[in-house]
Amino acid sequence: MKDLLARTAQAASSYRATCKDRSVTPAQASLDALAVLDGPLPVNSTSPLEVIELMDRIGTPATTVSVGGRFFGFVKGGTLPAALAADWLVSAWDQNSAMEIEAHGVLRMERTALEWTKELLGLPAEAGGVFVTGATMANLTCLAAARHKLLADCGWDVNEQGLFGAPEIRVIVGEEAHVSVLKALRLLGFGLARLIRVAVDGQGRMRPQALPEFAGPTILCLQAGNVNTGACDPLAELCGKARTAKERVWVHIDGAFGLWAAAAPERAALVAGADQADSWATDAHKWLNVPYDCGVALVRDIQTLPPAMAINASYLQSGERLEPLHLTPEASRRARGVPVWAAVKSLGRSGVAEMVERCCRHAASFAEGLRAAGYEVLNEVVLNQVLVSFGEPEETLEVVQRLQAEGTCWCGSTVWQGRRAMRISVSDWATTDEDVTQSLEAMLRIAGEVRRAVP
Ligand SMILES: *Cc1c(COP(=O)(O)O)cnc(C)c1O
Repeated sequence: MKDLLARTAQAASSYRATCKDRSVTPAQASLDALAVLDGPLPVNSTSPLEVIELMDRIGTPATTVSVGGRFFGFVKGGTLPAALAADWLVSAWDQNSAMEIEAHGVLRMERTALEWTKELLGLPAEAGGVFVTGATMANLTCLAAARHKLLADCGWDVNEQGLFGAPEIRVIVGEEAHVSVLKALRLLGFGLARLIRVAVDGQGRMRPQALPEFAGPTILCLQAGNVNTGACDPLAELCGKARTAKERVWVHIDGAFGLWAAAAPERAALVAGADQADSWATDAHKWLNVPYDCGVALVRDIQTLPPAMAINASYLQSGERLEPLHLTPEASRRARGVPVWAAVKSLGRSGVAEMVERCCRHAASFAEGLRAAGYEVLNEVVLNQVLVSFGEPEETLEVVQRLQAEGTCWCGSTVWQGRRAMRISVSDWATTDEDVTQSLEAMLRIAGEVRRAVP
């Protein structure tokens, strides 16, 4: 065990030490070599050390280097040192973190991590929550609580009676709601065709004037951090409308990365009013830079979660406390909140603020550099997201493809309100000024080549 873990640590630390010098995109030959990992079910054993050595030899070169500071695809944080190391210990301990009885230590850390997360995000002290696999599952968890509570208030027990014949719950979303919110609503039996979709502005923010009158029990889904532009719905105004409605309105905020704006004093105004919602979904594996997978589901009234999620069986030995078993869609679970505890413990409030602010500053530098070279930035760069057009849609796509193949950095493409764009998301704590300079240089060089190639 000792040699095995020492060898593994050596492989991991040498990976991390060299990732700034590696091509972000793996070579085709490395991808081809992955075939070595296939083969028939092994009949005989292989020593664990050999298994890990094979994994390192074949797996390491085939990685997309997303932890070295120059991966700007999707919205993908890297991993902070303390969070990565904590994640290893979580595996070594292998606690089933569903119940207190067998996971005292890790659940204590998770509870503390939740308190710290709430404070960083400026959410109400009375709120409670639980760690899940990501914002998709956090959206599902919060919306399940909303569905149960609104129906229970109408005298309908959805656990017993299901949705057929239930009183109608209206669900309002913005035109730009993230696909994971739509998926969660779908899984909960709210058909997509029944959703009321509210028009958005040029940044993807819900237009308050377009919000329909509330009629009957309603779930209002808002967003902090549009996945393309980074823009946030006007939360204070929209929450205000919901709060003063005479109807019962449950406000849910999908803030997978955008809610973290609250942690940086200069950005916090973007999400002002978020504390007035009834539930919040966010990710830790994005902007907090913990390893996959880790999201957070938070509700203003923790007592609304167990009716939707609790399970009981005679052999389960449940304590007095609200345990993850009764709060999440899962039963057995990894203590995925422990790396959050480690990340926040190591950075402190000021470190988290600095990390968020730094990513935003890097995004602004990208926008500035691209604009200065004559390219059009399509969004207001208020957070960590930049959308840029390199001309015709085919030119933009060509730049993205060549950039991905070249390997200095990695960006994806998107279509923003009908326009093809390259999308830059700066979410990795490890991105430096030097990474931005180097990446910008590659973008401009490749865009220049494409421009010259296209008559
Ligand atoms: C990433 C993202 C999600 C989904 O999060 P997962 O962690 O992938 O489940 C939801 N909403 C927004 C706005 C996102 O950016």
